[in-house]
Amino acid sequence: MSIELINVWYIVAAALFVFGLKQLGSPATAVRGNLLSSVGMLLAVAATLFNAEVLTFEWIIGAAILGAIIGFVAAEKVAMTSMPEMVALFNGSGGIASLFVGWAALYNLDNSTFTYITIVLSIVIGGLTFTGSILAWGKLSEVMPSRAIVFGAQRFVNALLLVALLVCSVLFCLDPSSTSPYLYAIVGLACLFGVMAVLPIGGADMPVVISLLNSYSGLAACAAGFAIHNNILIVAGAMVGAAGIILTNIMCKAMNRSLTNVLFSGFGAAKQASKVEGEVKPINSEDASLILEAAQSVTFVPGYGMAVAQAQHVVRELGELLEQNGAEVTYAIHPVAGRMPGHMNVLLAESNVPYDQLVEMDDINPRIDNIDVAVVIGANDVVNPAARTDENSPIYGMPIINVDHARTVFVLKRSMASGFSGADNPLFFGENTRMLFGDAKASLSEVISHFK
Ligand code: NDP
Repeated sequence: MSIELINVWYIVAAALFVFGLKQLGSPATAVRGNLLSSVGMLLAVAATLFNAEVLTFEWIIGAAILGAIIGFVAAEKVAMTSMPEMVALFNGSGGIASLFVGWAALYNLDNSTFTYITIVLSIVIGGLTFTGSILAWGKLSEVMPSRAIVFGAQRFVNALLLVALLVCSVLFCLDPSSTSPYLYAIVGLACLFGVMAVLPIGGADMPVVISLLNSYSGLAACAAGFAIHNNILIVAGAMVGAAGIILTNIMCKAMNRSLTNVLFSGFGAAKQASKVEGEVKPINSEDASLILEAAQSVTFVPGYGMAVAQAQHVVRELGELLEQNGAEVTYAIHPVAGRMPGHMNVLLAESNVPYDQLVEMDDINPRIDNIDVAVVIGANDVVNPAARTDENSPIYGMPIINVDHARTVFVLKRSMASGFSGADNPLFFGENTRMLFGDAKASLSEVISHFK
């Protein structure tokens, strides 16, 4: 196939990506958007295979089969709660792939200086995305401490690394070759920088690092596209890069932090939150069902614990029963609830909760005073009033869903343990709070059986 015809197919694929992305913006159209983008990707891959520059189909087909098997098994096996770690690994895989594509482009004989610059960019961004994502995976899966790790002179060391990267990159571009010692220095420094950049980010700031690494994986692919003169890689990479930056911005706003503050300050590193004390008032499922029966308005506030308990289906079932009982039912979604952007939306969509009952934090808060019962299902940080009141709390300043302003609050969790940020939660001692201890799914099932 001629390169012109391949480019026509690339334009069709790019158009499908654009429409797909647009449709991913709303839960109602997201499934179709995902399908459209996948068809676009299939077209892009198929068109690329018709390129006359393809040297070997054996290796490509072999790698595709191997990749498909690994992807299929991983997707089948992964628990819903481990999805964020898997996303982190995907970002890392994108990064290392771009690094190798950039590296391989060095073996082209007719590279211009511009191409060498893009090669270096794909290696640098790809390398730091790879190691940064592996570290993010480690923090999310708690194989290492999820808190920010800071040490004296950290910023100085990072600045030094950046300068060394820049110097090596310039020296490499002045005399580029696939055996240049500067090439190996760039790979090593980029990988080290990825680790150093993610180390001081932790706790409740992790959503930002996840979306930022997602953006970097796109930028690395975009640079790799320039390095091998592949238009669809440039377009797709730029889209992922831009979408990731927009998401990063949304996550920063959701936490009321600036990006520089997240990247350089070390989450809650030096803070000592005030001690939270008071009387805890437990409630059993029977009493909870009686209060819910009398409620005119109920809002469910899901968090990471709902994912752990896989309670989304019973939540929807209880929501339907309450509606049949005449209550107005809503689901309040905090942008950073769970462990990945859109985590709660995905779970509630899976259990067929009607989209029009999902309410964003900014829309629920002004009317939460009139809600009879707020049912917190395995959420903790995103409903922690210390974020409003305790200047010493590591999450101080982060906007939360003000469930403590509802007339009654039920908190469903297994113990008094803190959430991802490690901050104590005064909500549990609130005058209007009742703790329904236990696994969220089991507790809700009991409430439902009493309700019936
Ligand atoms: P949290 O992690 O703050 O709290 C989750 C709570 O769920 C825990 O306190 C736990 O308490 C409870 N829980 C766990 N298992 C169960 C169960 N089976 N049944 C009932 N409860 C359970 O979650 P939030 O959603 O409130 O906040 C998200 C946090 O994660 C924020 O700090 C955010 O910054 C961070 N984060 C978010 C990301 C994102 O992109 N959304 C990415 C990375 C981090 P107990 O053990 O007592 O049951």
